Amino acid sequence: MNARTTADTPNTGGAGSTVLVASDLDRTLIYSAAALGLDMPDDLAPRLLCVEVYQGKPLSYLTETAAVLLAELARTTVFVPTTTRTREQYARIHLPGPRPEFAVCANGGHILVDGKSDPDWQQHVRRTLAAGCAPLAEVRAHLSRTADPAWLLKERTAEDLFAYLVVDRARVPDGWVDELAAWAGPRGWTVSLQGRKVYAVPKVLTKSAAVAEVARRTGAGRTLAAGDSLLDADLLLAADAGCRPGHGELADTGWQAPHVTALGRRGAEAGEEIVRFLLRAAGA
Ligand SMILES: [Mg+2]
Repeated sequence: MNARTTADTPNTGGAGSTVLVASDLDRTLIYSAAALGLDMPDDLAPRLLCVEVYQGKPLSYLTETAAVLLAELARTTVFVPTTTRTREQYARIHLPGPRPEFAVCANGGHILVDGKSDPDWQQHVRRTLAAGCAPLAEVRAHLSRTADPAWLLKERTAEDLFAYLVVDRARVPDGWVDELAAWAGPRGWTVSLQGRKVYAVPKVLTKSAAVAEVARRTGAGRTLAAGDSLLDADLLLAADAGCRPGHGELADTGWQAPHVTALGRRGAEAGEEIVRFLLRAAGA
């Protein structure tokens, strides 16, 4: 727990001294234009680096300062991007710094090792889901039955593991998400609302389980985490220390844990604050 390293000593040395940093991506490290929250005067706005292009258009950004700091974090720790994105969605992101050896996609459904999904982990996940929750088809059928086309924009499944809806959030009736969560809970599914997306994810499909497996393989002595949504709560709880930004589902619901620092900044500036926190906590 007390293992500290310096910038001169890459903390990928012996077992136990390695610091693993598992961070969520969207609205934690990278931000869409709508999520940037640039509410300062335009002439004071930070310069941005685009790290994702989708259908020929820029989609996700971080500040140039955050980019420099993130590259340093990736050089000095075992940095593990830990996302609910599918592998395909993750592949569009080009973060600064060395390409991470490990990444967690699909909310823990896939561990990428040098860009390839680990087959042993896939098998483990299949077994865990078969035993631990109602089938995806049942959840999809319920979503189709209860979501109203008046505000439902898209209905998607991710990697055959979980489902999400893209909605016109302003038109979703009060209480609909809570009702969905109440239906899903006893069936072993959890519901998370993030921006325009409503996720339904098996409770046993967690970022923390996949990160624990990466920690085991790398011999990490300490794990640090960062995230903004309900799907990051287990990741933060399982880490030795962590932080969350001033925006997002966790901040909005007042979620807290003794070893998780609630940072104050919102939007892309929070991204910068998060990387600074992680660097400091890693002792880099
Ligand atoms: Mg997020």
